[in-house]
Amino acid sequence: MAATATSRASQTIRGVKNTVEEKLKFVTSESEGIEPIMSFDDMCLKEELLRGIYNHGFEKPSAIQQRAIRPIIERRDVIAQAQSGTGKTSMIALAACQIVDTASREVQALILSPTRELAAQTEKVILAIGNYLNIQVHSCIGGKSLGEDIRRLENGVHVVSGTPGRVCDMLDRKTLRPRQIKLLILDESDEMLSRGFKDQIYNVYRYLSHEVQVCLISATLPNEILEMTKLFMTDPVRILVKRDELTLQGIKQFFVSVEREDWKFDTLCDLYDTLTITQAVVFCNTKRKVDWLSEKLRSNNFTVSSMHGDMPQKERDAIMKDFKNSESRILITTDVWARGIDVQHVSLVINYDLPNNRELYIHRIGRSGRFGRKGVAINFVKNDDIRILRDIEQYYSTQIDEMPMNVADLI
Ligand code: ADP
Ligand code: MG
Repeated sequence: MAATATSRASQTIRGVKNTVEEKLKFVTSESEGIEPIMSFDDMCLKEELLRGIYNHGFEKPSAIQQRAIRPIIERRDVIAQAQSGTGKTSMIALAACQIVDTASREVQALILSPTRELAAQTEKVILAIGNYLNIQVHSCIGGKSLGEDIRRLENGVHVVSGTPGRVCDMLDRKTLRPRQIKLLILDESDEMLSRGFKDQIYNVYRYLSHEVQVCLISATLPNEILEMTKLFMTDPVRILVKRDELTLQGIKQFFVSVEREDWKFDTLCDLYDTLTITQAVVFCNTKRKVDWLSEKLRSNNFTVSSMHGDMPQKERDAIMKDFKNSESRILITTDVWARGIDVQHVSLVINYDLPNNRELYIHRIGRSGRFGRKGVAINFVKNDDIRILRDIEQYYSTQIDEMPMNVADLI
């Protein structure tokens, strides 16, 4: 792909102080040469897009947006890492709006996400900020009508935001024509390139022109993923965050010792009033446990919603809608909810079970504290879990204290 020269002013980053940046305590470790652009006005964006951005309530680009939007719209391959809730997915939506030519009816940008809810969320952001662009976007996701996908794609769309399975299917059927796709973005890209999705992503990639621009976005980008990028990216611009800078200052992290599994339930019931102060997400490690826990809570007269990947999509959609509209306050769920989902009022995350890997920990607690808001994460730890928690604490150089009595005051 064609590489455009990016201007490299070295002195700018450290000197610059601005409120968004301070609030988000954002530090990039590998972006020293990239000059931040402090205003959307100075990004050479389409007039109608700019209007859409401001109308959507964005006044000023976040740190990652200041650094990554320009290389993306200058058509460089980009690897962009930034803390959760700092505007990465919004940036993807913005970039897609900028690069597509709405005079054509062909798909020009393809955004892949690991869950249906995230793909749908990104579609909504594109519709919102692309409001004045007459942009056609469609989410191609499993669990939805194939007929509707075919109808929409045949009518012509500019951007597809999808999950890998359904997108592969549409490509195989030749309903999604790949010829004009010039931008491929993998949101939550470390997940997309992990074992579960890699083959499907490769399948999609094979359909695309070898000139396609590739952008990888995530809060977590482990080394084995970064090493893999040589295979399909050309001289990428890299904006990375050191792992000791990855946890957000705004999210306070605590643990509660529960000794045994069967203590967890009573501990959660004791916390119920705290949970309902705003909105809370409770993570379990299996779908069965989500079902079990939500049933048990309901039979004890607690009001909770629950969601996992074995539920029919209609039900998942209804639960998402209620939760996003704050009509339900407590959501019991699995890691289907760990990445990317943005509900601004979530200020408490409970790990009923500790996550199975270090990356998931960052993503789960990042469901709270969106865009500089305050958040609290509480980990339930059995005796033999302490070791895992200490490992997470050390790995991210962060602090996870015993939960104080007044935790409610911190929310
Ligand atoms: P990430 O993908 O990094 O987790 P998102 O793109 O989902 O972050 O954004 C998190 C929240 O911040 C969303 O509610 C989004 O609307 C908001 N947001 C993103 N960029 C801006 C901005 N420049 N100004 C104000 N709010 C923003
Ligand atoms: Mg995101």
